[in-house]
Amino acid sequence: MSHDAGDLVRSLRLAAAVAPLLLATGATAQGLTEQQQFARGIYQELVEINTTTATGDTQKAAEAMGARLRAAGFPEADVHVFSPAPHKGNLVARLHGSGARKPILLVAHIDVVPANREDWTVDPFKLTEQDGYFYGRGSSDDKYMASAFITNLIRYKKEGYKPDRDIIVALETDEEILDANALGMQWLIKNHRDLIDAEFALNEGGGVGLKNGKAIRNSVQTSEKVSVGYQLTVKDRGGHSSLPRKDNAIYRLAEGLVRLSKYDFPMNLNETTRIYFTKTAETESKENADDIRAILAPQPDPAALARLSDKPGYNAQLRTTCVATMLEGGHAINALPQLASAKVNCRILPGEPVDGVQAAIERVLADKQIEVTPTGKAVLSPPSPLNEEIMGSIEKLSKEFWPDAAIVPVMSTGATDGSYLRNAGIPTYGHSGLGADVDDNRNHGKDERVLVKSFYEGEEYLYRLVKMLAGGK
Ligand SMILES: [Zn+2]
Repeated sequence: MSHDAGDLVRSLRLAAAVAPLLLATGATAQGLTEQQQFARGIYQELVEINTTTATGDTQKAAEAMGARLRAAGFPEADVHVFSPAPHKGNLVARLHGSGARKPILLVAHIDVVPANREDWTVDPFKLTEQDGYFYGRGSSDDKYMASAFITNLIRYKKEGYKPDRDIIVALETDEEILDANALGMQWLIKNHRDLIDAEFALNEGGGVGLKNGKAIRNSVQTSEKVSVGYQLTVKDRGGHSSLPRKDNAIYRLAEGLVRLSKYDFPMNLNETTRIYFTKTAETESKENADDIRAILAPQPDPAALARLSDKPGYNAQLRTTCVATMLEGGHAINALPQLASAKVNCRILPGEPVDGVQAAIERVLADKQIEVTPTGKAVLSPPSPLNEEIMGSIEKLSKEFWPDAAIVPVMSTGATDGSYLRNAGIPTYGHSGLGADVDDNRNHGKDERVLVKSFYEGEEYLYRLVKMLAGGK
């Protein structure tokens, strides 16, 4: 791939940024600095511990990271590994500052979603470096951040860095399950609030968007949609399949689902998504940019809205969404079904009433015999304010690393620990510094990967950003 002048300038700038490090530690055989090699080692250790929710072991991962910190000289009293259940582990570690300001909290989850060896082209629980990428389950979501925070905390310690606020790292076990009794962040907030209390937190949720290898935006996640599940159930007296009736539980449910599939919740922009679309229009193709401007107008253009709604990424920012995700029904091939049911997952815009969504589903299903019941409790959380200290630091540092990337506040369509932290009164910003192609999101999917270059760049970025935010010397 060819490099333009901008890339060259950026490379030189980065080279200048890491030069002192090279001088201090000397480059290794693979062209990595000692620091980078150390970072890679921690990353590899974490990726290669299987931490799948049901079958993996986050306790092992939390203990491994705890051991790393202790080996680097952190006292026992500042490294806590909690195991609220077998094979479930949370780690909370602290680097002490002068205490002039309230601590900063760095959060990452260490659990991952399942990955089958047969589905992948490489072993998901080995860190494979290939074609400029690191492959592995969790390589991006979220072990990049987990390893970066641990690596950088050790780096600060080695330097003798004294911030003017404590820096707390929390690695938690249960982000990937939508469970009100989860043993990760919710458990920490409930049982060890004092250990994680902070003025604000950095977490996953926003990264650096690359298009053709160039950084076009650097996202800061400030809010999240709310995930709510509904069960749709149709019951019937059933009977023998040799005597069918037109009225059939499976048909009823199916017809209702078809009506639901054609329904779009109304467009509803908030402060974050308005800025998001405005900034996105600056880097989009003319066609999309025109459509975006047409929906931002006081009288949004319905045709433009329809075109944007065809793009799942935009659609999810525009409105609350509900989609059927699971289906079951019947009990025998030769019996009329007594039961048919489906699960529908909704992602509700922050600020929209949850009750209204159920009412909308019932209205669209338009069939009293389809019973709608929520399957869990919605966790609403207020958006984190676009605080000048944080946004200003990000603007300034991001310019050095990715001069052409616009800083864009974003609303996540998926849920993270940010919602629990925000509810606990700790404003949380999803900001990873990890570059990834905007069209190549493999989180939770097959062959999850991270650009090697982005890995080292992002780690260095977080190292400096946290220093800016923590102050001191
Ligand atoms: Zn994640």
